[in-house]
Amino acid sequence: MEERLVDVAIIGSGTAGLNAMGQVRRAGKSFVLINGGEAGTTCARVGCMPSKALIQVAEDYHKGTHLRRYGVSGGAELRLDAAVALEYVRHIRDTLVDRVLTNSTDGMAPEVFIEDYARLLEPTLIEVGGQRIRAGAVVIATGSRPLVPEAWRAFGDRLITSDSIFELEILPASLAVIGLGVIGLELGQSLARLGVEVTGFDQLDTIGGISDPEVLAQAKTIIGKDFTLHLGQAARIEEDGDKLRVSAGDQSVRVDQVLCCIGRVPNVGGLGLECLGLPLDQRGLPPFDNRTLQLGDLPVYIAGDVDGERLILHEAGDEGKIAGFNAAQGGNTAFRRKVPIAINFCDPNICAIGTRFSELGPTTTAIGQINFAPVGRALVMGQTHGLLRLYGDRASGRLLGAEMIGPKGENLAHLICWSIELGLTAGQMLRLPFYHPVIEEALQAALYDLYRQVDAKNMGGLLELEQLEE
Ligand SMILES: Cc1cc2nc3c(=O)[nH]c(=O)nc-3n(C[C@H](O)[C@H](O)[C@H](O)COP(=O)(O)OP(=O)(O)OC[C@H]3O[C@@H](n4cnc5c(N)ncnc54)[C@H](O)[C@@H]3O)c2cc1C
Repeated sequence: MEERLVDVAIIGSGTAGLNAMGQVRRAGKSFVLINGGEAGTTCARVGCMPSKALIQVAEDYHKGTHLRRYGVSGGAELRLDAAVALEYVRHIRDTLVDRVLTNSTDGMAPEVFIEDYARLLEPTLIEVGGQRIRAGAVVIATGSRPLVPEAWRAFGDRLITSDSIFELEILPASLAVIGLGVIGLELGQSLARLGVEVTGFDQLDTIGGISDPEVLAQAKTIIGKDFTLHLGQAARIEEDGDKLRVSAGDQSVRVDQVLCCIGRVPNVGGLGLECLGLPLDQRGLPPFDNRTLQLGDLPVYIAGDVDGERLILHEAGDEGKIAGFNAAQGGNTAFRRKVPIAINFCDPNICAIGTRFSELGPTTTAIGQINFAPVGRALVMGQTHGLLRLYGDRASGRLLGAEMIGPKGENLAHLICWSIELGLTAGQMLRLPFYHPVIEEALQAALYDLYRQVDAKNMGGLLELEQLEE
């Protein structure tokens, strides 16, 4: 079969693939972008965006039940038309998918954007849609999909995942969420707030990936008010009449549907990675350098969810840029990766930034903390539950990381992450202005607590102001 020649072949037109394409275009190289399955990115179709739309609907509806305290009556009588709510979420999703497609692949020539599944025959020889493409370099950006144990597929559409939940026309009366990481927690809480009888299960004794025991204790209490949590035992599912029974240890619940959120697996099946001549791990992934994203010393790069490392959007974008840059330049330039930031949009937000509690050196670390209850802004917002724990280097006072559950965590997490990126110490951060009354005063209070415990007293004297030289 004749081989078409291109400089770079990008497999997958999700966030990573599209960012890789941007770099290849910028370098003026020829390329093909290949996408099997639906285009429009996981983020817009079944990921970040529809989940945030569902969360928003659920939060707004939930607020109606809390208005009596303000003297607003009738809130308890609010009724949800779930079919309309779900249609609204799909409308938001479709708007965003259209936007992605308009700004990326719409209008691309069919020989450049090939809509089919690709398979590697050799490291740089691809078979797709009945043709063969020989590329100077290849970027693998095929994303991930929900993990569903084979045996659970027998439950048909009573077992749903994040891929199918946004297609629901009506909400079930009862549902079990198995897996309480980011996705299970966000979707489980939203469904509970929309009136579904939700029960959560996780084999780990944590939720939302929290590793700090004090944050976890608060999170269990706070989230546990929305739905029942059964932790620490693996869940199993069996038929029970026309319903499903989910059991873990001596806990058991009979439900209409199960939402399976036990993890994601890389889309490498059928991709032919065996031809790379590299060892493949249990997931079918070859080893790679996460600063260059190169596979061995081949002109093949991996980016985004498929590599199984940082399954979040801005990291998929960064990885796409690194892989696309190196593929276009034919090199292995290493790039420093950003400080990790993870935000779970459940209410209140659960966040982890930088070094996690589980990774801290016990003797070299100081921990500053604040409960949200005494924070004025939190009181005004009626969101007084939560805990922020800041981790700093005991000697220098440099901020290392944080874990938290609390109101407006998405904003606080960014401030903390940017401060770590800039290498700031608790003292330096305390010299920055904090407006009043804002939720950032929670961060200020935690910083004071941290500062008291660190050796480097560099806050600028008792006034916390820089003294001018005469
Ligand atoms: C429910 C949910 C909520 C999320 N919320 C957030 C959030 O709030 N914030 C955040 O940062 N991240 C969030 N994420 C994660 C984020 O969506 C992903 O990290 C990101 O979309 C991954 O992008 P990607 O380019 O790696 O993969 P994708 O966008 O999945 O792109 C991969 C593409 O490759 C195609 N493909 C697969 N195999 C082949 C093949 N053999 N040949 C050709 N094409 C192939 C796929 O069909 C797909 O189109 C969420 C994810 C989910 C599921």
